[in-house]
Amino acid sequence: MRGRPDAAWQTCFDGVPKTITVESTRTASKVYRVIYDVTVLGSGPAGLTAAVYCGRALLKTLIVAGAVPGGQLMLTTEVENFPGFEEPVLGPDLIQRMRKQAERFGAEFIQEDVVGVNLRTRPFKVSTGNETYESKAMIIATGASAKWLGLPSESRLRGRGVSSCATCDGFFFRGKDTVTVGGGDVALEDTIFLTKFVNHATIIHRRDALRASKILQDRAFKNQKISFVWDSVVEEILGRAKVEGVRIRNVKTGKQDVLKCDGVFVAIGHQPNTSVFLGQIELDQKGYIVIRDRTATSVEGVFAAGDVRDFHYRQAVTAAADGCRAAMDAEDYLEEKGLRSQ
Ligand code: NAP
Repeated sequence: MRGRPDAAWQTCFDGVPKTITVESTRTASKVYRVIYDVTVLGSGPAGLTAAVYCGRALLKTLIVAGAVPGGQLMLTTEVENFPGFEEPVLGPDLIQRMRKQAERFGAEFIQEDVVGVNLRTRPFKVSTGNETYESKAMIIATGASAKWLGLPSESRLRGRGVSSCATCDGFFFRGKDTVTVGGGDVALEDTIFLTKFVNHATIIHRRDALRASKILQDRAFKNQKISFVWDSVVEEILGRAKVEGVRIRNVKTGKQDVLKCDGVFVAIGHQPNTSVFLGQIELDQKGYIVIRDRTATSVEGVFAAGDVRDFHYRQAVTAAADGCRAAMDAEDYLEEKGLRSQ
């Protein structure tokens, strides 16, 4: 699509490739206007599995992978619960394998963010700012992003000791003290990872019971470098140029304390990446895409898969399974409407 010549349009929208010759003042070259069968938005396990299935179904498929492709697995170290890997596999390696598999079946990749969509027209349009791509069906697999506490001190010190990615930033805290906020799988997994580098890691949780899975709880409780502060919230992150500590409040007693630390890792969950679809597709109160039937959304021909619509399971394997289902539903849709290009 990039560097398109400029004199004729080739379209395969109705299944029959057509070439429309357009006069050019400069050259007699052709302009190709490709209309994809399917655009897949997102390149985490849901998007990449959808791409594998679309490719194997011989659908002309474009993956708009995002400027930073791969989704949350790119921020993960060892994945132990993806079937087929007896030994842990690194998140980025798993993504790379899925991508190569999708490419083997002919999926095309664009490494840009989606900045706009038009789901009111047919074919659908996806804009990346540089280009607009068109397709007859769409699979939204844009995933979810880390949530922040929303404190002014958190925004001020982000990148100066405040982070949401232990995998990315843990190395910078060798021999230092950190706190992690949150009580879920990510908070525990990240903190266990941090103990490879840090002197001590404290987990601050707003309740007195963790949400994380039992296996991670056991590992964290046994780890000598990890301690817990229960029933407490962070009210302020302290420090001028860099993090120097946190001011915390016990939610049961109201008592405030200062805890010295060099880094704050926020691991309090995720929010769906759906802002670009606002007003065009049905979203629930938290911004997740609402599913009408199987993987179908409120817009006919648009399907959704993975964390962008699933706030319950949020596993790599459930996202992958969802991507498979969305691809099969998209194929059925194109077949039923007589829209597939081959
Ligand atoms: P999560 O399970 O939603 O946990 C978020 C944690 O942050 C909860 O403990 C929550 O407290 C706390 N929290 C939320 N908002 C807060 C706030 N404003 N202030 C303070 N604390 C706050 O999210 P996650 O840990 O990111 O995990 C996401 C999903 O990925 C989960 O389904 C998880 O199972 C999955 N995951 C799985 C693995 C694995 O299987 N190896 C690894 C990583 C992630 P409450 O508990 O009080 O609600």
